[in-house]
Amino acid sequence: FSEKIQSLFKKFRGYGKLTEKEIGEICRDIRLLFLESDIALSATKKIVEEIKNRLSTLEFTTETSPGTLVSNIVREELINLLGKPGNIDFSEKPTLVMMVGIQGSGKTTTSAKIANYFATKENKKPLLVGADVRRPAAQLQLEKLSQQIKIPFFTDKDPFLACEGALNLARSKGYDLIIVDTAGRTHVDEELLDELKTLNERFQPKNNILVIDSMMGQEATKVAKAFFNTIPLTGAILTKFDGDARGGAAFSLREVTGVPLIFLGVGEKIQNLEKFDPVRVVNRIVGMGDIEGLIERVSDIKIDTSKKPPEEIEKWNFDTFLESMRQIRKMGPLEELLSMIPGFSNIKQMKNMIPDEKQMKRIEAVMLSMTPKERKKPEIIDASRKRRIAKGSGTSIQEVNQLLKQYEMFKKMFKSKNLKKGIKLPNFPIG
Ligand code: GDP
Ligand code: MG
Repeated sequence: FSEKIQSLFKKFRGYGKLTEKEIGEICRDIRLLFLESDIALSATKKIVEEIKNRLSTLEFTTETSPGTLVSNIVREELINLLGKPGNIDFSEKPTLVMMVGIQGSGKTTTSAKIANYFATKENKKPLLVGADVRRPAAQLQLEKLSQQIKIPFFTDKDPFLACEGALNLARSKGYDLIIVDTAGRTHVDEELLDELKTLNERFQPKNNILVIDSMMGQEATKVAKAFFNTIPLTGAILTKFDGDARGGAAFSLREVTGVPLIFLGVGEKIQNLEKFDPVRVVNRIVGMGDIEGLIERVSDIKIDTSKKPPEEIEKWNFDTFLESMRQIRKMGPLEELLSMIPGFSNIKQMKNMIPDEKQMKRIEAVMLSMTPKERKKPEIIDASRKRRIAKGSGTSIQEVNQLLKQYEMFKKMFKSKNLKKGIKLPNFPIG
């Protein structure tokens, strides 16, 4: 979806003037793209209609080219179609959050992610409840995750007892939110829906959150409808938004159910949860990159400002490199970070140039096996020192050589081009 829409946007930029014929062509292109991407027909019809209306009544000014106007309008309509983000309702204490969805959608993982999110970002006290009592493995999975993030876990022999017990526990211990991981099936069936319906009548949760796998395509719409018709959904979370199919399902979901998206799951790890932001999603799909997300990640880590970044290449050495590398690693996998940079998603070959986690660890090991003196002045590393470093780091002489070579190249590159122009060396050597 993302790739196709990016090439459509390239085409938009080429428009010089907009006649009825061009407008028809734009609408046809968008319609085709949406349908090919498994987006619900009603959502497709809606956006094509809106775009057509706006393009037909468009007034041209001299400042903006028609191509840019078309791009902006389509961008805005994509954002509108995604809708405004929803929220968790905290008006009751404790507030009940029921996580519903079919098996494999990511309910258990996302329950833990949300608990961790509110505990670390908003200082709340969550309680995780296992209500998928028929599958012992599912219970154990949530319990393990709760231990990993240090959040209390509660369960009982049936979902009703589990919810009741959790409410009592939360009241006595002052927990703010109770996140209930409900049972899931491989597909929607009557028994499951009945159980959810009864749970809802009994506990009237303020939050019923539908968890949907964004890789599911059209099937997602059917599943969403079934849950929507059974219980009052208050929000949705799309998981696996890190996958290739990202995007499409988000457009269908809002249009079909009217339920707002609250979060996106963007990876398997606990921290891989993002607040849903329609502007950011559209920018990412259309290929503007996700600068805001990147800035958020960077500002999340505490950079030691007492040590100033090296301003000249002369001062750059393996000490500063090691420190930069650690700071980068704190932000998450490098590839994930780079994918947020505008245009990067287009350059597939660049991915092969980035060291993966394993390579990074080896590079770090090599640097750690150097003496402080060697790190500061790599020029002194001779054959015997190389042997010692390779042995100490559990790598090979070739790997040590390679790192030294890269260091030389990097130094030369900056000496010849940028330094003369007065450009400062970036804090992170991979810039
Ligand atoms: P449940 O059956 O609905 O409870 O689903 P689980 O929480 O057990 O998740 C099913 C699988 O999807 C697991 O392997 C998770 O690691 C994976 N998963 C969940 N959310 C995400 C996500 O946002 N991104 C990716 N890549 N994987 C996810
Ligand atoms: Mg589960």
